[in-house]
Amino acid sequence: MKISNNVSSMKESPSVLAAELARQLKAEGKTIFDFTIGQPDFDTPDNIKKAAISAIEAGETKYTPVNGLPVLRDAIRQAFQRKYDIEVTDRHITVGGGGKQVIFAALMATLNAGDEVIIPTPYWVSYPDMVHVNNGTPVIIETSEAQRFKVTAAQLEQSITPRTRWVILNIPSNPTGMVYDEKELGALAEVLRKHPDILVMIDAIYDGIWFKEGPLPSLLSVAPELKDQIFFVDGVSKRYAMTGWRLGYGIGPEPLIKAINKLQSQMASCPSSISQHAAAAALNGVDDDFVDKSVAVYRQRRDLACQKINTITGLSCLTPDGAFYIYVNCQALMGKRTPGGGVIESDFDVVRYLLEQAGVATIQGEAYGLSPYFRMSFATSTEVIEEGCDRIARAVKALTD
Ligand code: PLP
Repeated sequence: MKISNNVSSMKESPSVLAAELARQLKAEGKTIFDFTIGQPDFDTPDNIKKAAISAIEAGETKYTPVNGLPVLRDAIRQAFQRKYDIEVTDRHITVGGGGKQVIFAALMATLNAGDEVIIPTPYWVSYPDMVHVNNGTPVIIETSEAQRFKVTAAQLEQSITPRTRWVILNIPSNPTGMVYDEKELGALAEVLRKHPDILVMIDAIYDGIWFKEGPLPSLLSVAPELKDQIFFVDGVSKRYAMTGWRLGYGIGPEPLIKAINKLQSQMASCPSSISQHAAAAALNGVDDDFVDKSVAVYRQRRDLACQKINTITGLSCLTPDGAFYIYVNCQALMGKRTPGGGVIESDFDVVRYLLEQAGVATIQGEAYGLSPYFRMSFATSTEVIEEGCDRIARAVKALTD
């Protein structure tokens, strides 16, 4: 069968594939310590589930407006206003089947062949492929651990060309958990102010999963005057443990929202009416206690995972400020020999070795555009973190020069 060139050249999401492989091995009866999973291991809070059940019982099972039910738009608007003190109207809001779909639609709605999208490494695996499939050109900026995996204003400035359409910033970041402080955001804002035609996508899907005191620093708070350049993407997947409900949203300039909604009217009509009711309940703070409690649990797991990884000779990681991932530096393992006689030459070799030798599933940094690293999700139990890290330690110790 003939498949379009754009789709043929697209990769399947490596994180989805890695999670699938771990699931397959578990189904075969192997014990796998799975650190690939990019979703909360908590169940959706009961009151959110109840809101969905009530919606079903009330017959709220029909198409909704393309830009979402008024109850959801109100909840999005109020949550955004509470957080950023910026007033938005319905004309600034779009809703979709997950943040992923919203990001895809935004790129599809705006990119023409050759338009450039600036993406700092390490990036969420989907951005470059989403840009490619929509005929754009990803412009990758390499960051380093020394700069805490954050793009600098100077790097941003150097990467801008007359073809730049978007800059994508994912804060807190998947896969590093890094968060930009106000000074760093202020420096980026200074560059962006000089380029009013460039749109900034703030992928804030991990907003709320943040381990420091006080509000998460945001470009919207530091430079509210940039609001007509900013497309803010969020959703309920991560914060409220609702990955399967598929509900995300975007807030941004009116012409962009109009274009995305037009696309949505032809692509999906609207996201699930039931999920919309559930998301409205979540955003209305029906169970904000859940967010506080889950963040406290993630914090403990983060501390445990970082402490364990950083005691393994040959591996190290920075302490993330948000999200639920650590990005483990495995440079020191390059060139080592495995007990089976193989030589470790890449982070993919490390990931394969850990899976085969230790039954530990992780994802290679190559998928995120920055090697040699691997990503571990700590959205899993303390027991899995304890035992999984011990297994990694034993496997690393078994490597020889
Ligand atoms: N952005 C980032 C950085 C993510 O890690 C994910 C999910 O893993 C998404 C967006 C999309 O989330 P969802 O489509 O579940 O809202």
